[in-house]
Amino acid sequence: MTKNIAVIGGDGIGVEITAEAIKILNKIAAKYNREFGFTHVLMGGIAIDETGVPLPEETVKVCKASDAVLLGAVGGPKWDKGAGHLRPEAGLLGIRSALGLFANLRPVRLFDVLADACVLKNPGKIDLIIVRELIGGAYFGRRETYKDEAEARTAYDTMLYRDWEIERIAKVAFKLAQKRSGSVCSVDKANVLDSSRLWREVVWETFGKGDYSGITLSDMLVDNCAMQLVRDPSQFDVIVTENLFGDILSDEASVLTGSLGMLPSASLSESGAGMYEPCHGSAPDIAGQDKANPLAMILSAAMMLRLSFDMDSEAAAIESAVERVLAKGLRTGDIYRGTEPAQAIPPLGGESSPERLVGCIEMGDAVAAEICFS
Ligand code: NAD
Repeated sequence: MTKNIAVIGGDGIGVEITAEAIKILNKIAAKYNREFGFTHVLMGGIAIDETGVPLPEETVKVCKASDAVLLGAVGGPKWDKGAGHLRPEAGLLGIRSALGLFANLRPVRLFDVLADACVLKNPGKIDLIIVRELIGGAYFGRRETYKDEAEARTAYDTMLYRDWEIERIAKVAFKLAQKRSGSVCSVDKANVLDSSRLWREVVWETFGKGDYSGITLSDMLVDNCAMQLVRDPSQFDVIVTENLFGDILSDEASVLTGSLGMLPSASLSESGAGMYEPCHGSAPDIAGQDKANPLAMILSAAMMLRLSFDMDSEAAAIESAVERVLAKGLRTGDIYRGTEPAQAIPPLGGESSPERLVGCIEMGDAVAAEICFS
């Protein structure tokens, strides 16, 4: 049966990296006798240019009717001056909300061959996952910009959580931990914020109510967590946190993997809808130059196969193809540590190799070629 995938290339490098993900999925389809149908839809800056709004109704309709959504990235300086509801990012928040994507899963894994690209001197084993609440908190709460009685320019955003919003994301984290090494760290700012005190209370209540034997739960304040992530990331397995904290912590964690360009993500709804996107943005500084790292996008496609389509072997085939390509020394600029491009790629199955600087398209081609050997 054909799996219908809505593809939002978006802006900047979004278009380049989604093209590489589709290349890989077509390779998977051929090798494993699967059928994927792709419907391209508009969102972000390009949608503003072509339709006047960042999230056209047609896009929401197609995404809702699809089995999963692949998203590149949106945004760029061209659209930065627009009113809030007419900026590309409004499209992103809108589609998350329209699809009810409340759980954002961001695996942070350092491939052994990229240990040199990690910002830490002795990173050890890094294999954690950040579970970020995605449609609540300050990004969705009441907000206002106005002049107060004394004519001072004033603005506020409201960080609001309801108990059921906390409960459902906590359950996602506990269930994930059951399939991993079993420890959940809930991150909040309960020493200062009311919303965090409720967060902590509900997370523990949820833990007590369910059958989560074999799992350990702990709390950590977000400022400490930011520090612990760079001091000793190997202590973490599953981190669960609210929207704003998760946004910041996952960008911080991304450099542990060598680059933002290596960090995939999945956003899931209660009804099973899933949107898969890299954690990075549209990278306007390198857009259109064939310099983007497509691996976060490609690994996001692997997450789609596993989480939305139950295609575990196919997902694993992509992940091991990525690993082999990295082991052969291919590097896009963001993870390249050499000074001069090496001349030749050693044959398949060789030991870890000298690095060779490649572009987005060549990196995608190399992963696609490796799928044949998975
Ligand atoms: P960014 O993630 O686009 O880029 C940050 C830095 O990382 C840049 O130097 C960029 O070149 C580099 N980088 C990012 N992804 C890369 C990749 N795959 N390969 C190689 N290098 C990569 O963040 P930014 O510069 O703060 O934002 C640019 C635009 O993207 C803004 O308009 C922002 O609002 C938007 N944005 C969109 C999303 C999204 O669509 N989910 C997320 C974050 C930012």
